[in-house]
Amino acid sequence: MAELIDGKMISTLIKDECKEKVAEYKKQGISICLAVIQVGNDPASSVYVNNKKKACAYIGIDSLSYELPEETTQEELLALIEELNQKKEVNGILVQLPVPKHIDEKTIINAISPKKDVDGFHPQSVGSLCIGQPGFVSCTPAGIIELLKRTNVDISGKHCVVIGRSNIVGKPMALLMLRENATVTVTHSKTKNLKEITKQADILIVAIGKPKFVNSSYVKDGAVVIDVGIHRNEDNKLCGDVDFESVKTIASAITPVPGGVGPMTIAMLMKNCVDSVSLQQEN
Ligand code: NAD
Repeated sequence: MAELIDGKMISTLIKDECKEKVAEYKKQGISICLAVIQVGNDPASSVYVNNKKKACAYIGIDSLSYELPEETTQEELLALIEELNQKKEVNGILVQLPVPKHIDEKTIINAISPKKDVDGFHPQSVGSLCIGQPGFVSCTPAGIIELLKRTNVDISGKHCVVIGRSNIVGKPMALLMLRENATVTVTHSKTKNLKEITKQADILIVAIGKPKFVNSSYVKDGAVVIDVGIHRNEDNKLCGDVDFESVKTIASAITPVPGGVGPMTIAMLMKNCVDSVSLQQEN
């Protein structure tokens, strides 16, 4: 039976480490501030934004909250981002996605200064990750690396198969695993014979966005399986992209949903906010 990779516990450790660093910075007269912008009042976004603000409060990071009406124009949003880019006391800027349809997501991501891009979505951040330069890394994949390292999963030389190639999970995940010296295969919706490929994985990372898609027939005996997916099933219960009950019988370690990858995303956002201080000092 697979070992459970406890994202709840590991995310708490990371948040407590952040809290200590923030306290050290405070002693040196340095405070950290995250600006969180939400346009419109999508209920799921409101929950995410509130959780981020709560995590800031727990860690001792100041948060500035901008709740803008749905009809905010792209120009108005860009003007606010530019104002925050210029503000010395703001270390990180986060625009909660998705933005309303009349606003172009790419333009917004590109407008955030790469020095304050704590989500790690700016093309400069992604480019820096690609060529191994310092910069912010997308929180969910960065959290998965922490999960693997802190449960003593050896990455170097292992075959890692990533299912999914999205800009926020699949692609940065593949780059991070490469940085950790894994041999990486990226699969996606046009991949042929998916099972044949996933069955070769020592580490299988599933970000396909389809509930319980991956069952034990996709998994090699003893593989480590990371489930990025979050869905609500017909009984309103959370489930992942992996059929946990089936895969746990064959994997050596597995992340549950909830309590696996999910809590790591906010913890890594907090870590990015803390790291912003040294990144901004370097520049
Ligand atoms: P996405 O929809 O942008 O990407 C899904 C990817 O799966 C695509 O690249 C697509 O090519 C691939 N895919 C689709 N069908 C496939 C198939 N049959 N075979 C192989 N590949 C296929 O999703 P995303 O934003 O990367 O998110 C993936 C999942 O992770 C979702 O369930 C999402 O809710 C979840 N998620 C969780 C967190 C978290 O904090 N835990 C963060 C981000 C996303």
